[in-house]
Amino acid sequence: MTDATPALVATPPGRGLYCNRTLNLRAIRAIGFDMDYTLVHYDVDAWEQRAYAYLQQKLHEHGWPVDGLAFLPQFATRGLVIDTALGNIVKADRFGYVKRVMHGTRRLEFDDQRKSYARTLVDLSDSRWVFLNTFFSLSEAVMYAQLVERLDEGQLGPMLNYSDLWQQIRRSLDLAHAEGRLKAELITQPDRYVVVDPDLPLALRDLKQSGKRLLLITNSEWSFTRAMMEHAFDRFLPGGTSWRDLFDLVIVGARKPDFFTGRPPLYEVADDAGLLRPCVGGPTARGVYFGGHADMIEQHLGLSGSEILYVGDHLYTDVKVSKDIHRWRTALIVRELEDEIALLQEARPQQKALDRLMAEKSVLEAEQAQVRLQQQRLEQGYGPTGSGPREPLDGRLARLRTRVEKLEDAIAPLAARLSVVSNAQWGPLMYAGNDRSNLASQVERYADIYTSRVSNFGFATPFAFLRAPRGRLPHDL
Ligand code: IMP
Ligand code: MG
Repeated sequence: MTDATPALVATPPGRGLYCNRTLNLRAIRAIGFDMDYTLVHYDVDAWEQRAYAYLQQKLHEHGWPVDGLAFLPQFATRGLVIDTALGNIVKADRFGYVKRVMHGTRRLEFDDQRKSYARTLVDLSDSRWVFLNTFFSLSEAVMYAQLVERLDEGQLGPMLNYSDLWQQIRRSLDLAHAEGRLKAELITQPDRYVVVDPDLPLALRDLKQSGKRLLLITNSEWSFTRAMMEHAFDRFLPGGTSWRDLFDLVIVGARKPDFFTGRPPLYEVADDAGLLRPCVGGPTARGVYFGGHADMIEQHLGLSGSEILYVGDHLYTDVKVSKDIHRWRTALIVRELEDEIALLQEARPQQKALDRLMAEKSVLEAEQAQVRLQQQRLEQGYGPTGSGPREPLDGRLARLRTRVEKLEDAIAPLAARLSVVSNAQWGPLMYAGNDRSNLASQVERYADIYTSRVSNFGFATPFAFLRAPRGRLPHDL
C-alpha cells in the first residue's frame, strides 16, 4: 500500500537546528524573538557601509582625520575581539589563546604576535577586550583598525591612546545609531537593505498554531520595528492579516541587556507615531509596549524560564544574559553558518588529505620519540636498551627526520589553504587553527541551540525533540 500523505520536507544543507543542550520544543510554551538580524536579516555590507558612512561623518564633524577612508567589507567577522590596550584585532581559540592578530589593517607576523600575547589570554570579563557580538559591530572594527594606523602615524595627536580611540569611535557609532537618520534612510529603501525570507512567516505560523505564544522583544524603536516587520512579513501572510497577528506581545525599545538584568518600567506604545504612556498594571495580550523586563514577561505569561525560548543573534545580550540570569532556553542565530558549512563541505577532500598526513606525521613522531629514548639510554648506560651499537639508531632517526620533513612540506600549503576558508584574513568563524574559536566555545556555553535563520524552525517543526550529540573527549578517539 502506498502512503498517500504529502512527501516529507528535507532540511536543506546548513539549515538545521544544531543542538548543544537537549531541547524538547514541545515543552516550550512561549518563544521570544529578537528582530534585527534575527527575524529581519539585512544585507550586512549594505547596512554596515551606511553605518560606517554615518560614523565617518560624525568623526569628521569632531575634527578627526577620516578623509579618504572607506568601509572594508571582508575585513572583520563576528567573534573577533578588539584589544583596546594594543590597538589590535585578534582571533582567539576556545581557551582565550590568541591565534591571529591584525594591527591596523596589517597582519602581525607570528613572532610579533607571540611577543605581544605569550603571557596574555583573552578574558572577556576584562574591559580591555571588546567582543564583536553582532554584524552591527563590523563598521566600528574597520574604523578602529584604520584609525589605529593614523594614530601610529601621529595624525591623531600625541595624547590619544588606543583605548581612548576605541571609546571615541564607540560613542560616535552609538550616536549614529541613536540619531535616527540612518534608520530613516533604511525605512525609505527597505528593498536595498532587508533580505526577506519567504519561508519565515509560515514557520512562525506553525509555531503559533501549535499553541506556543510568540513575543517580539527588540531594542529597536517602534517606527523602525513596524516598517521592517511589515516589509519582511506582510506580503507572505494571508490577506487581511499582518505580522501583528503572529505575536501575543510586542516589546520595542527593550534595552537588552537591561531587559534581562534590571527592572526598567514598562510603557504602552499608544499610537503609530510612538507616543508612550506609562503602563503600571503590566502588559495585556496583543499590545505593543516599550521597555519592561523579563520578570514581568514571565509573570504575564505565567511561565518559568525553562518554558520560554529566546531567539536572537547577539551572543551577549540575547543569549548569555537571558540564560545566566533567567535560565531561559536560548537559540542563537548564526547566519554565517550556511556559507561556512557549504565551504567546509567543499574543502572536505582537502581536510581529509590533511588529516591523513597529520596522522602519518603523528605515527612517525611517536617512533622518533621512542628512538630518541633508546639513544639516551644508550648514551647514559642505563635501562633495558642501555647497550649495543649506536649507529643503527642514528641512521633510523635520520631517516625518520627526512620523512617527517617531507610530510611537513606537503602539510604546510594544505593547512594554509584551509586556514582561509570562508574569510581570507580570519578563516572559518567557528574554528581557530585546529581548535574551536572563542566564538564557538561561547555558542556552546550559552546557546542551547544555534541555527542560521529562524525559518529553519519550519524544517524542524514545532514538535522536534532536539538532542545534543554525546560529548567527545580526547580519550574517546
Ligand atoms: P535587536 O537586535 O532587534 O534587539 O535591535 C538592535 C538595535 O540596536 C537596532 O535598532 C540597532 O540599530 C541598534 N544598535 C546596534 N548597534 C548599536 C550601537 O552600537 N549603538 C546603539 N544602538 C545600536
Ligand atoms: Mg538582533
